[in-house]
Amino acid sequence: MDNVRFNFPAPEIDETVEALRMEVRQFLREEIQNGGFVPVTDCWCAGVDLEFSRKLGAKGWIGITWPRQYGGGEMSALHRYVITEELLAAGAPVHAHWIADRQSGPLILSTGTEAMKRNILPRIAAGDCFVALGLSEPESGSDLASVRTRARKVDGGWEITGTKLWSSGAQHCQYMTVLARTGDWDPDKRHEGLTQFLVPLDSHGVSVRGIRDMSGVEHFNESHFDRVMVPDDAVLGQVGEGWKQITSELALERSGPERFLSTFVSVERAIQQAAPSMQGRQAVVLGGILARIRALRAMSQGVAALIGEGCSPDVEAALVKDLGTRLEQDVIERLREFWPIVLKQGYGDELQYLMSDSLLRQPSFTLRGGTNEVLKGIIARGIGLR
Ligand SMILES: Cc1cc2nc3c(=O)[nH]c(=O)nc-3n(C[C@H](O)[C@H](O)[C@H](O)COP(=O)(O)OP(=O)(O)OC[C@H]3O[C@@H](n4cnc5c(N)ncnc54)[C@H](O)[C@@H]3O)c2cc1C
Repeated sequence: MDNVRFNFPAPEIDETVEALRMEVRQFLREEIQNGGFVPVTDCWCAGVDLEFSRKLGAKGWIGITWPRQYGGGEMSALHRYVITEELLAAGAPVHAHWIADRQSGPLILSTGTEAMKRNILPRIAAGDCFVALGLSEPESGSDLASVRTRARKVDGGWEITGTKLWSSGAQHCQYMTVLARTGDWDPDKRHEGLTQFLVPLDSHGVSVRGIRDMSGVEHFNESHFDRVMVPDDAVLGQVGEGWKQITSELALERSGPERFLSTFVSVERAIQQAAPSMQGRQAVVLGGILARIRALRAMSQGVAALIGEGCSPDVEAALVKDLGTRLEQDVIERLREFWPIVLKQGYGDELQYLMSDSLLRQPSFTLRGGTNEVLKGIIARGIGLR
């Protein structure tokens, strides 16, 4: 324990990053004013607007770190960071392209074939192509290494059979990255024999069924693969290397500002309402929320800087997600003290609307992307407690 150190470097934010932030902020302000979108809570999971994704693509704000030859902008992880932060703070409808921008694109970049990179990445960057994550299954969530979806080697490719559960936004996606077992099941080598495939969702044998969550939205899906045939070059990376690839994606998945800003629109509206007469306990509570957001932001930017340097800071990312998702939930509980929630208000009272929606969505914050109990296990192992 004596040598335990987390690494959250404070990155240098140069003026091009700040200029980009101002440009994105201005664009979002105009979009709201012109009726381009209505701010929603948990916008990176609940806000779907294909046209808006295309607008961001046209601006060059999707895949901004990728090489130009594949539709990217060759900018830094911090440039991407400020775009995501501004979109989340504004409650913009970004769900359709979020996963492809955050992790499927980088996965294709590092493990895909040249044809995949040339054909698919520019379409993702244009906001025209979306990718779902096919990891969880009915019997495999936290214990992901137990997946049962099987890919069988056949002449000319692979035949995939199984069920993926909770695949966010799959109904809007053209592709899913599917984790499947390609080797024999060996309880002593659970992480071996797993492979990731990029599967077109219009393939024969694929069916995607929406699942309604308690906020009334069909955000995630159950996806069936019934002897779905994919060619050899649908394999991402090497056969049998799926587990290693997934764990290297985790820092991308867990450390971004979406892990502490999902309910930020409510905080901002509450501060705007309270500002003229804020004092006493209300000032303490709202100030406390902002201080926690500020600290998490510094940690999350540190992880972005490390990712930009090619590191994979899994333990730091797990810490950001654990602290950040608990903050997102706590925010609504704190605000309720001053703004009691009446469930499912119309948009008439914006803060009420945002908070009642947040209340119904917040149980998922500490589940999606790995539960907080599992994250604590990762952190404990990372600092030598397990
Ligand atoms: C909104 C939302 C979107 C999602 N989107 C996707 C997606 O796009 N793609 C995808 O593949 N999956 C997705 N998921 C699934 C998500 O990754 C799983 O829900 C999560 O990994 C937990 O798995 P589970 O639901 O099977 O719960 P379980 O693994 O069954 O866990 C049940 C409980 O047991 C606890 N537990 C389990 N194992 C341990 C352990 N070792 N130590 C301590 N406690 C433990 C858990 O913390 C939890 O409280 C999404 C989930 C949600 C809520």
